Amino acid sequence: MCKELNGQRRYKVRINFAIIKQKIRYVQNKIEDIIYPRRCPVCDEVLRFGRGKICAKCYHQLSYIHEPRCKKCGRSIRKFEQEYCYDCSRKKHFFISGIALIDNVEAGKKSVYAIKYHNKREYVDFYTDEIVKRYSDEIRYWQPDILIPVPLHKKKMIKRGYNQAEVIAVSIGMKMGIKVDKKSLKRIVNTKPQKELNDIERRRNLANAFCVNINQKNVKGKSIILIDDIYTTGSTIDECAKVLLKAGAKKVHFITLSIGIGY
Ligand SMILES: [Zn+2]
Ligand SMILES: [Zn+2]
Repeated sequence: MCKELNGQRRYKVRINFAIIKQKIRYVQNKIEDIIYPRRCPVCDEVLRFGRGKICAKCYHQLSYIHEPRCKKCGRSIRKFEQEYCYDCSRKKHFFISGIALIDNVEAGKKSVYAIKYHNKREYVDFYTDEIVKRYSDEIRYWQPDILIPVPLHKKKMIKRGYNQAEVIAVSIGMKMGIKVDKKSLKRIVNTKPQKELNDIERRRNLANAFCVNINQKNVKGKSIILIDDIYTTGSTIDECAKVLLKAGAKKVHFITLSIGIGY
């Protein structure tokens, strides 16, 4: 009994340290804003200090997800009585439900691509602000214990220098006070880029690509939110959710910045 209490106490202290670390990073980011001026995530123009995180005109260029939304993947659908999008009404997903901020089209598509491939990590701050502003009630309703970014393979991480999903997860975690777990889920196969593949090829490409670190007991019984930049067919999120559930996770939701259109 005593041991168990001690165990619980140690666990709580660990969580607080993680949140403190995230807060320190937040302050560092603010200082960086003063030294290096912030740029608009859509047009990349320098923004005047204290004048927000996006130009007023660019804010309206993004195609925000709106109601009615698919009850599973969260993308916009045409009719309220529809309940699910075309894809989710035909496919079984391992996750419970998810949220995305924008459609993966035009200005938003270009901007999210730049986060991933052109080191525009600073853009993330605007997107996560909007996610928290619009969906914090829904996220809290999920009662998440941890955020887990979709991991990159070690080789890709070395090549790119950062994992965009991790940047997004840290930003949401810091703004909502949720711990980010970067260690439990691993990508053990350096998969081919998914862009050129169809849904079946994507699933085949991802089979056995992820595993849960056996030394990490963090996922057992936990309510988890997977974080990624884009949801296209959902095969990556689904594969991660499958592995986490197999390792004992209680339930899995997801948050992405953008999502492919599909009524
Ligand atoms: Zn702009
Ligand atoms: Zn859907």
